[in-house]
Amino acid sequence: VDLGYRRSLCPPPSTGIGRDTVKALRDSGAQVVAVSRTKEDLVSLSKERPGIEPVCVDLGDWEATERALGNIGPIDLLVNNAAVLLEQPFLEVSKEAFDRTINVNLRSVIQVSQMVAKGMIARGVPGSIVNVSSIVSRAAIFCLTSYKKPRLRAASFVSQIRVNTVNPTVVLTHMGRRVTNHTELAKYLKERTPLNKFAEVEDVVNSILFLLSDKSAMTNGSGILVDGGYLAC
Ligand code: NDP
Repeated sequence: VDLGYRRSLCPPPSTGIGRDTVKALRDSGAQVVAVSRTKEDLVSLSKERPGIEPVCVDLGDWEATERALGNIGPIDLLVNNAAVLLEQPFLEVSKEAFDRTINVNLRSVIQVSQMVAKGMIARGVPGSIVNVSSIVSRAAIFCLTSYKKPRLRAASFVSQIRVNTVNPTVVLTHMGRRVTNHTELAKYLKERTPLNKFAEVEDVVNSILFLLSDKSAMTNGSGILVDGGYLAC
């Protein structure tokens, strides 16, 4: 996928899917604004992929995000990837965990997408937004109550901007390992998956790149399941 000459915004790149997405975007020729709340991760990422534009901000903080990204300049591609996983069964979900989850997993997506979309509309250029969601947006999984990622698959709000999601099953990242630490749950999830395995980071990154690129030019308000067939059963 050639994404050359386009400027993309990818929060957050410190670990896992975000980090590898930034690297893949850079390798595809895009200029990348990499957003994270952990400065050390941005420093190490800048060394791995010189030329990225790092921005350090807590995306759960509306005002700080406004200050950090409000004047970020023209963006053509956006990946909304930031999320927290605060494991609490339904009967134990606290207000703090719920608010934090909503602020990071949902509110920041709306805020950053607004900023980027306004710029695209003002410039009259085409754009592509990819929201990293989860199979949990479509299937309940024990202990992930407050995390339950919303189905942010809103069809494009203006004709020039495509909006799509990727919905992975468990991906073997820091976050994914917190799920697989529940041995019984991991066994159940894997056995229910026709491909009998969890996703690799690369599986998700490939789908993100496809949806960002013109290879998916007619795909809008849609999504790609990266779940090995889990939801088909
Ligand atoms: P990681 O935990 O590896 O990465 C999550 C990233 O989000 C970290 O870099 C973290 O930064 C960042 N982040 C969290 N809160 C904030 C914040 N307030 N401001 C800025 N950055 C923040 O998870 P994954 O790479 O696995 O997850 C990426 C996406 O994929 C998420 O949207 C997740 O919901 C989704 N997903 C993951 C699955 C999995 O099994 N791994 C399954 C399905 C979906 P920091 O390190 O600084 O906290």
